[in-house]
Amino acid sequence: PGRRLTGFQTTGDLHLGNLLGAIRPILADQHRAETRVFLADLHALTVEHDPARLRARTVQQATILLAAGLDPVRTALFVQSQVPEHTELHYLLECATGYGEAHRMIQFKEKSAAQQQVRLSLLTYPVLMTADILLHDTDEVPVGEDQSQHLELTRAVATRFNAHYGPTFVVPRAVHPTVATRVMSLADPTAKMSKSGPTPAGTIFLLDPPDVVRRKISRAVTDSGSDVVYDPQHRPGVANLLEILAACTGGQPTALAGDFPSYGRLKAAVADAVVETLHPIQLRYAELTADPDGVRQVLADGAARVRPPAAATVHRARTAIGLLT
Ligand code: ATP
Ligand code: MG
Repeated sequence: PGRRLTGFQTTGDLHLGNLLGAIRPILADQHRAETRVFLADLHALTVEHDPARLRARTVQQATILLAAGLDPVRTALFVQSQVPEHTELHYLLECATGYGEAHRMIQFKEKSAAQQQVRLSLLTYPVLMTADILLHDTDEVPVGEDQSQHLELTRAVATRFNAHYGPTFVVPRAVHPTVATRVMSLADPTAKMSKSGPTPAGTIFLLDPPDVVRRKISRAVTDSGSDVVYDPQHRPGVANLLEILAACTGGQPTALAGDFPSYGRLKAAVADAVVETLHPIQLRYAELTADPDGVRQVLADGAARVRPPAAATVHRARTAIGLLT
């Protein structure tokens, strides 16, 4: 496989969806594929934010990724803003992207409709994402459905830039990780579990203590009916619980469904499985927080490692577009 890139927005705390849908696939492949992982703090500035919390959360997310088993020797881990080439390339790519192209992005429409004050950077967000991807000569981008339109934009911009100014960027392709799961909100099983979504009660955060995990799962919205069957279309709430259980225990949702006579018993089993999955991560997290300088050093090393090749990409782009170099 080629080089992969995954980013985590520092908009909120990492959750079970991030673990099962993104972190686990990275860990599963980190010894055979080259992956770069970054904390997207510049993307977090596109919506209302609190400066002190943003800074703290950036370190916290890095610590959780390390606690979950990310090997920083194999996988470069860095903070987006600590690699200023991201913003430099962003500007160059803004000059190769149409206003209409950015304006028609569904995520922009959705997020801007939900806000009073829309930051200009929310409009150009997909261009920064394009810069993130192209900067690192990325071959493969694992994307969920919510990001596939942005990846199409990335491919269009890269292809156009190469055609206009000569071969400059690797044109990336989307990949759908084999072991990934799309975890849905416990409060609304038709919406995905998310950091910054409207229903925090529907999100299991990776640092939630066991009693909180159990409470959230026991209150999870299920469907009418009482027998446990795996039917994502008609019983999305129960299907989500079965998928979480399957991802945590290694079973298959359809087979697991037969093990439970009631919703109550299923929820208890899911709670046990999630608590057990989070336990080792939380233990290691507690150890790592005793040495915050160590985590910051990992991030500094990661940035130092990726900056020279990133600078080479920017240099190619500057030259191609006609800047004096
Ligand atoms: P935000 O609400 O701020 O967009 P998020 O929860 O969607 O936050 P991201 O930082 O956008 O998280 O995504 C980080 C990674 O986690 C991405 O690879 C994304 O595809 C994956 N991911 C996010 N939510 C889920 C989910 N519910 N199920 C599976 N994977 C997810
Ligand atoms: Mg997201």
